[in-house]
Amino acid sequence: MFADSTLAPPQPTLAEARATLERVWGHPDFRGLQAAVVAEVLAGRDVLAVLPTGGGKSVCYQVPALLRPGLGLVISPLIALMTDQVEALKQQGVRAARLDSGVSLEDRSAIWRAARAGDLDLLYVSPEGLASGAMLDRLAELPLSLIAIDEAHCVSQWGHDFRPDYRTLGRLAEVFPGTPRIAVTATADARTREDIVRSLRLEGAEVLVDSFARPNLQLSAVRKESGSRAKTDAAVIALVRERRGKSGVVYCGSRDGCERVAQALQEAGTNAIAYHAGMDARERDRRLERFLAEDGAVMVATIAFGMGVDKADVRFVIHADPPGSLETYWQEIGRAGRDGETAEGITLYGPSDIAWSLRRLEGRPMAEEVKAAQVRKVRQLFAMLDGAVCRPQAVRRYFGEAEAQPCGVCDICQDPPAMFDATVHAQKALAAVQRLGERFGRGRVIDHLLGKTRDVQPWETALSTWGIGAEAPLHTWRDVLDHLMFEGLLVEDPNEGKPLVRLGDPSAVRAVYRGERTVEVRLTPARVSAPRARTGRNAALETLDADVRARFEALRAWRRERAVEQRVPPYVI
Ligand code: ADP
Ligand code: MG
Ligand code: ZN
Repeated sequence: MFADSTLAPPQPTLAEARATLERVWGHPDFRGLQAAVVAEVLAGRDVLAVLPTGGGKSVCYQVPALLRPGLGLVISPLIALMTDQVEALKQQGVRAARLDSGVSLEDRSAIWRAARAGDLDLLYVSPEGLASGAMLDRLAELPLSLIAIDEAHCVSQWGHDFRPDYRTLGRLAEVFPGTPRIAVTATADARTREDIVRSLRLEGAEVLVDSFARPNLQLSAVRKESGSRAKTDAAVIALVRERRGKSGVVYCGSRDGCERVAQALQEAGTNAIAYHAGMDARERDRRLERFLAEDGAVMVATIAFGMGVDKADVRFVIHADPPGSLETYWQEIGRAGRDGETAEGITLYGPSDIAWSLRRLEGRPMAEEVKAAQVRKVRQLFAMLDGAVCRPQAVRRYFGEAEAQPCGVCDICQDPPAMFDATVHAQKALAAVQRLGERFGRGRVIDHLLGKTRDVQPWETALSTWGIGAEAPLHTWRDVLDHLMFEGLLVEDPNEGKPLVRLGDPSAVRAVYRGERTVEVRLTPARVSAPRARTGRNAALETLDADVRARFEALRAWRRERAVEQRVPPYVI
């Protein structure tokens, strides 16, 4: 008597979703791909949404959860994230709760009671909680409106935040066959995407990937001086002081570095707050609250800080040490300028950083294949940092946005660096390292190339590489050796504080020897400078020696001629 469709409850419309977004969140409309994602979920279909950090992934599942009948289940990797979202939702009048290890037995019972009575719209749980099985049994008895998997890249071991318990979430497909599942992440890398689809059994899901353009961000990268931590610290302090009164984040590679830089910044009179995983959860929460509440607060943090942190007016993100991949880079600089106003991302990087990043991977227990992929990611990051391609363009192409154009505002677009073909230099440097038996540091290799070694021994002058680089000045060799390290043609072996330069990837080295691979090096890459050294450009020029001044003049002339024409970076895959 009745057609099937009349038995099913009517599907909520996108117009209703818009009304809910406005009423509950106060946002006049969806932006970017939000509407498309919401439409999929409202129609009861699975979806994987890849939206940039700050793109508004949460409302993609929160709004449909309010409109569809039943309880919306949200899986989130961090207690801090859950707490933030649940508190915000409650304040907006949404019936939300979280079940994590910090919730008392009493509160748990109350939450389950509310869920069974249909008095709960959204329930946040951790992947570990779900993996326990007991929770899954209880949920299986409830009608669910949807299942959201936030920060879904945690499922992938290729990614940067791998969480083993995310692996078990594929089971949800069997336990809740008719419930739409929505996975959201800001990681756009194709491999991670495939992993998410396979692992979460989202084979039938629509995959929606938003553009990663962040036109309000001004990005730049500055080379550190080799081996000088004090100079790097001074540079960071100068950068922060120039931005005094603004809110920002300074990322450091280690807890020690984080404490040290935070203290130095406090002594320099800025409101700096250290944050890393060595502090207990309560202390971290307290510090996060201060950062959110106080004007001009600067968070000095390790990678432990940030996932899901939602502070709109972060005006700068400075990497005192570079991150581990372009994904992490984009996510971390993406914490700046969420309000859409101009913000800066400044990354300091140096040859010892790439050595450190690679060394850290060495010690990790993981499959060879995974390790090789991580090593490649490190190399790709440094190739971008030390490269000459517009920063956002390079990263977006890496993410698969082939049509990305130069941004016009990054350091490369504003001031295109001059490049020179250093293939012959590279061949000489590689040969020198080889002849010297990979037993010397960077400075000594350069001395050898220049034929200027003090206390020179007969065996050394007998080598065919002795003095073969005498035609180029010292600073050129420094640039070349640094760059060879960024390209992985040379590697720095720490050797307990007395670093040795060794040959890198053999097939790449061979290709350079044979002239099958060219090496391009930037002339005078931007380098960090202590605050005292900062004077006007012209004043500074007067003090330079003739050789350097000539290079500067040539560079200027070259820049005048050259438009912001860009090549596809060699490391795009
Ligand atoms: P993500 O998880 O993608 O990093 P969030 O979900 O935390 O981002 O949202 C970031 C910010 O954007 C929040 O302050 C949120 O309220 C805001 N936001 C989300 N959607 C919209 C919208 N359609 N219009 C305006 N602001 C929005
Ligand atoms: Mg989020
Ligand atoms: Zn640019």
